[in-house]
Amino acid sequence: MVTSFKLSGFTCPACGAIFEARTVTSITHQGQDSDFLPHYLGENPLPFFLVQCPECSFAGYPEDYSEKAAEERKVSSAFLKKTLTMPLCKKIPEEALKFFVAGKIYEETGRNPYHIGNLYLRGSWCCRLRENRKAEIEMQQLAVKFLKVAVEKSTISNPDNLPVVTYLIGELYRRLEDRKSAREWFGAVEEVIIDPEQQWILELTQKQAELNEHFIN
Ligand SMILES: [Zn+2]
Repeated sequence: MVTSFKLSGFTCPACGAIFEARTVTSITHQGQDSDFLPHYLGENPLPFFLVQCPECSFAGYPEDYSEKAAEERKVSSAFLKKTLTMPLCKKIPEEALKFFVAGKIYEETGRNPYHIGNLYLRGSWCCRLRENRKAEIEMQQLAVKFLKVAVEKSTISNPDNLPVVTYLIGELYRRLEDRKSAREWFGAVEEVIIDPEQQWILELTQKQAELNEHFIN
């Protein structure tokens, strides 16, 4: 079993366009990078976790197209146009751009910073798969910014995720070559672990903290 897709119909919540788009129905992966980018078998499903309107470029998860979501979180076409003219949009690969636009929409509509950070993190993965390090750095910086807000404002609804996110912030800082911040966040992982089953994250933290001290990226 590898990546599989299906075609579904969508109505754009921003401009009302009706279109069909591919969405992911199953994935398989074997292993992952130290910031959790899964090593997918078969076609890369990442860009298809989001649906983008071919008319106005609105982007979001399939559930963001539901009638309720569309009503509650309206974005204007002027906002979308402004977002698309941001200089970063010209520098990032097409797959990552979807995540960037969705992230900006999530920011604009006051969504949970944890979900915003996750969108930018996935955008950074798309950049890595395209071997575009410059764009990856920009997306990683955005991911760190919002994941930090999520930890600081306790917006992570599942407390089991806190050690993982704390580690992830450290790991993103390490990848951004900010050794001091990486050390700080890696150091905080142990105190937020509540479940003994999360020992694996502590082991991973120790391994990456060691790399951080020895400047290996
Ligand atoms: Zn649209």
